[in-house]
Amino acid sequence: MYWNSSGAEKGGDGKHDASQSFASRRAEEGRDQQHAASLVDTWYFDAHMHLARIGSVDVFGMCRIRTAICVSEHEKDLKKVLSMAEAHRGIVPFAGTHPRVLDMSDIERQASHIKSVAGIGEVGLDFTVARSPELRAVQMAIFRAWLQIGEAYGKPVVVHSRHAEKAVLATLREYRVVAAIHAYSGPLDVARELIKMGHYFSFPPVSSPIRAKLMRLAPLERVLVESDAPYIASPCRIRRAISAISRERGIPEDRVVDALWTNLAAFLGRAP
Ligand SMILES: [Zn+2]
Repeated sequence: MYWNSSGAEKGGDGKHDASQSFASRRAEEGRDQQHAASLVDTWYFDAHMHLARIGSVDVFGMCRIRTAICVSEHEKDLKKVLSMAEAHRGIVPFAGTHPRVLDMSDIERQASHIKSVAGIGEVGLDFTVARSPELRAVQMAIFRAWLQIGEAYGKPVVVHSRHAEKAVLATLREYRVVAAIHAYSGPLDVARELIKMGHYFSFPPVSSPIRAKLMRLAPLERVLVESDAPYIASPCRIRRAISAISRERGIPEDRVVDALWTNLAAFLGRAP
């Protein structure tokens, strides 16, 4: 239980019955308060952070982030993340070409670093950026090339999908990779298919009706949390995503945190 500095085993067996005495109910309430208090010492992870854009590792201590998947938008990001990773062991570097960066040659420039990274990302499709068939073809070629690398090296993939969910789903079907779809806001029927394929969903601390539904729909073991800092939110707000998952699923926050750390290890294929 590396996420809690107290290391204390928490929670009872969750059974309730009518004969439960007032005293035992009070004791249970007390335990709930302890759960809440124990989160004060909790360390979190961020499954999607643009550390090269943030430019400093101070955010880790400030926001109680112990581990962060630090995605790259292009080669320059990757180099920065790799050099920062030497100074902070919580940095988990990912190599990738963001769907905004419509430059096939960017992949070549990152190729020599593939063995130094834990995964591939941020890659994917964004049809709000690529509007013409020509640009979409370039975006797709870059996405496919990265999926091929992910498959060849057995690396997990962090996927961006915007107004392109069906195309992302169809493309992912062609590769044997495990993906975490970040900040998903597409249709639920596509999400259901992605769940069936065993992919993960990484939730930012910004809620939406679709995300609330997806928090209930996705198996708990396929759920991750992220900030997408500096774009969506500060990593200090990760706790809000955890609270939302707890609320939507009716599970205490500390148990959600436990599950999330297990999920991160499973997604990365190693202890985070
Ligand atoms: Zn991002």
